[in-house]
Amino acid sequence: MAVLAFVDTQEGKITKSSYEVVSYAAKVAEKEGGEAVAITYGDVDNGDLEALGKYGAKKVLINKSVTNMLPTKLAKLTAAAAEQEGADIIVFAQDFTGKSVAPILSAKLKAGLVSGAVDYPDTTDGFVVKKNVFSGKAFAMYKVNTEKKVISILPNSVGKEEVDGTAQVEEFSADLGDSRITVTNVEKANTDGGIPLTEADLVVSAGRGLKGPENWGMIEELANKLGAATACSRPVADVGWRPHHEHVGQTGIAIRPNLYIAVGISGAIQHLAGVNGSKVIVVINTDPEAPFFKAADYGIVGDAFEVVPKLNKAIEAFQA
Ligand code: FAD
Repeated sequence: MAVLAFVDTQEGKITKSSYEVVSYAAKVAEKEGGEAVAITYGDVDNGDLEALGKYGAKKVLINKSVTNMLPTKLAKLTAAAAEQEGADIIVFAQDFTGKSVAPILSAKLKAGLVSGAVDYPDTTDGFVVKKNVFSGKAFAMYKVNTEKKVISILPNSVGKEEVDGTAQVEEFSADLGDSRITVTNVEKANTDGGIPLTEADLVVSAGRGLKGPENWGMIEELANKLGAATACSRPVADVGWRPHHEHVGQTGIAIRPNLYIAVGISGAIQHLAGVNGSKVIVVINTDPEAPFFKAADYGIVGDAFEVVPKLNKAIEAFQA
């Protein structure tokens, strides 16, 4: 029995959350008495493919003919790989790709789907997976009763573990048929060479408390000093102070970095929905009653225009 890990790529590099998916699949496979197999696509860096062995993949299947993220094709590709390998459990990351491909695949395979899993399955009484519900405010235990099971895990929820292993890389071709959709153009979000939000371990985010786009210099400086990505609240992106790809929350990107620093953001439920899975949350706000403080691990009641420059100076002194 194999456990199949769907491995996503960006510009030829395997995404960080995919290593976690492979590590998760390997642990589930070990428990089930099987092996973890990875399926990926496109023109992927060879070193990256081999590195999947360090996270427990015994075999890596790669289809080089699929080059665009077209969910229906990726679902067909994954279904074909699952069939070849006899995989009953297929694991994705709950990211942009996983969110669109996993449900299509589960419908195709008539498999039970658990999206947003935060732990390994408990098999003492059936196959039970813990997942986030109500925008991360609670957990639910989902029992999957189908033979085939599709799980998407929240990035940064279980971590990845290195093992002493190597993976055999094999080209994988499958008849993917015609697609009703064609990708005509892919436009890359302009991150100015910065770290993409979804890949970032550290994130510095700011909101309406900064008063205007001209004041983001100190936020970018803090992010640069820490090696962090920048993010923002929705109103800030809506009025064009910051680009939309930085907007986090219920209607933006959901992230789970190790550190999230929120500056001048009130902490509305819709914002928290996208960031409350962060390992450590630091809030800087003038209002001691700001709801964000309830979700914070560390809080500074203070004016961003005083606190952030002081932080920048302190980090500079520390790094000198
Ligand atoms: P504000 O609520 O105006 O808060 C600004 C904060 O800055 C205040 O707490 C204030 O005390 C503080 N402040 C002011 N001056 C300073 C200073 N000098 N120094 C430090 N702090 C200061 N929002 C999102 O962010 N993401 C979403 O995905 C999202 N989706 C939504 C979906 C729906 C359906 C709806 C209805 C709303 C959604 N929102 C979302 C909007 C959300 O409800 C809030 O309105 C929004 O998050 C508030 O943004 P903010 O905290 O930047 O601004």
